[in-house]
Amino acid sequence: MEKKPFPGFSVEFFPPKSEEGNTKLRATWQKLAALSPEFCSVTFGAGGSTKQGTLATVKAIRADGLDGVPHLSCVGNTREQIFETIESYRQADIHHMVALRGDLPSGMGAIGAFQYASDLIAYIRRTTGDWFHIDVAAYPEIHPQARSGYDDIRHLKHKFENGANSAITQYFYNADAYFHFRDRCAQSGIHQPIIPGIMPIFSYSRLVRFSDMCGAEIPRYMRRQMEAYGDDADSIRAFGLDVVTAMCERLLKAGVPGLHFYTMNQSSLVMEICERLALGDHSTPAFSSASSPT
Ligand code: FAD
Repeated sequence: MEKKPFPGFSVEFFPPKSEEGNTKLRATWQKLAALSPEFCSVTFGAGGSTKQGTLATVKAIRADGLDGVPHLSCVGNTREQIFETIESYRQADIHHMVALRGDLPSGMGAIGAFQYASDLIAYIRRTTGDWFHIDVAAYPEIHPQARSGYDDIRHLKHKFENGANSAITQYFYNADAYFHFRDRCAQSGIHQPIIPGIMPIFSYSRLVRFSDMCGAEIPRYMRRQMEAYGDDADSIRAFGLDVVTAMCERLLKAGVPGLHFYTMNQSSLVMEICERLALGDHSTPAFSSASSPT
């Protein structure tokens, strides 16, 4: 299959909590490596994962020749802890990070030194100048704690004013929500790249759980269809692949600056979507359209 002219795609992992998880994740990025993702980002403290695991995972990814990019979330951390983490990234010669506020588990702990991601970004720029390319989070369907879509875009703009370079969005299944958001951002004077975050559908129950937490909407037609499939995981998988691939096609046709896949540390759905879209470097022998990635 021929490689299409395309701005590139990236993938996101979370740091595993066990040796077995590490082994599985390594196999995942080694399979995805065949498609030459632009970078592989690794979350920080999300879903209760350990913070130390982020840098260790990024280093392992980089040792395999891929561009590992750590996230950094500030919530619950002191200024000293943040400084140490930034320095540890610098010492590992990392020049790209995703900077976030993060979420405190409900009722737990203090906010920490920085209240919002924009404060963290200002601090990173103040202490390290232009060392890092900084990605931030953006929310086409509005962050659940924002007072309004208008406020949320104003806060996103503040992150750019404080030194962010580009944004990656929360996932969505309605391409129009992204287009509307992108246009509103442009009207507000945001002209940096806003890369759509893409969540393949791993299971209906998991999708509902995540979407309730992060405020992403599952369109009614998708809910109804997946509910009708019940325990038929194969049909849900096939349906999810069709829906997500069709949305990615629309986004690509509209000239998005890239796609960022939430992999949940698994390769097969992302590889299948990339294969259908003819994304990535399919000339690499490790991957062909006849292979059945796991
Ligand atoms: P912020 O940009 O600080 O925004 C948080 C909320 O505060 C928004 O509602 C915003 O509108 C509002 N706000 C911002 N500034 C102000 C202000 N001055 N006054 C009033 N309100 C304000 N979480 C993790 O824990 N670890 C990760 O690695 C991680 N990676 C992610 C990667 C991506 C691409 C995305 C989209 C999300 C990720 N998250 C991660 C989840 C993220 O931390 C949560 O969505 C969190 O609730 C918000 O983080 P933020 O950086 O967008 O926060």
